[in-house]
Amino acid sequence: MALNLAMLGPPGAGKGTQAERYARDRRIPKISTGDILREAVQAGTPIGLQVKAVMDRGELVSDDVIIGIVKECLDRADTAAGFILDGFPRTVPQAQALDGLMNGRSPLIVIDIEVPETELVRRLSSRLVCSRCASNATTPEESASLKCARCGGSLVQRTDDNETVVRERLAVYTTRTKPLLDYYRLRPTFRSVNGAQSPEGVAAELAGAVDAAADAVGARR
Ligand code: AMP
Repeated sequence: MALNLAMLGPPGAGKGTQAERYARDRRIPKISTGDILREAVQAGTPIGLQVKAVMDRGELVSDDVIIGIVKECLDRADTAAGFILDGFPRTVPQAQALDGLMNGRSPLIVIDIEVPETELVRRLSSRLVCSRCASNATTPEESASLKCARCGGSLVQRTDDNETVVRERLAVYTTRTKPLLDYYRLRPTFRSVNGAQSPEGVAAELAGAVDAAADAVGARR
């Protein structure tokens, strides 16, 4: 059975970093709605033009637009062996739509990465990302060099990582996304991991949590 994963957690919890790592190790595609939207903004597509101001304010793009994007991604043949969703779902209606899209597929494993808010603000306001490949800088040396260790591109601050927008994104997380935990909590495929540790520590805990959740429903691991 395919390994289908959704990564939940507040902005700055490390969802993207962990999803990228897990996808690489397991050779399954990572579907990051934030990356897809940022590419659309950069390319100036109709969706990009529509969502730019909303993203710059730290608010959520409409459920219809996001659900359409994810549906298109899940329709691709490369998701047959599994996938990791990073940054989706973020609202209860998105989670309900995802349940519909999961019809006929292996059960969805949902992992919540927990990090205290003070740590999130610290991480987000110092985060640097590559302007070419969108990876996060992972070491102080890399950040100091302002050069991406993977592709050599320039490291920059995300436009929505300034303190005012960070506070708005965290508030939006609390009101719109946190209720998702109650939506998923009672499922045998839901697990929480401690995101306030080294990336390696989170990766190890996450791998164990996914295996346990997969075992609980007889999915591939
Ligand atoms: P992220 O990179 O996941 O932090 O996403 C950056 C921004 O993209 C968010 O602040 C939202 O404006 C938008 N976005 C990404 N994923 C979603 C989603 N599932 N629902 C609504 N908006 C989203």
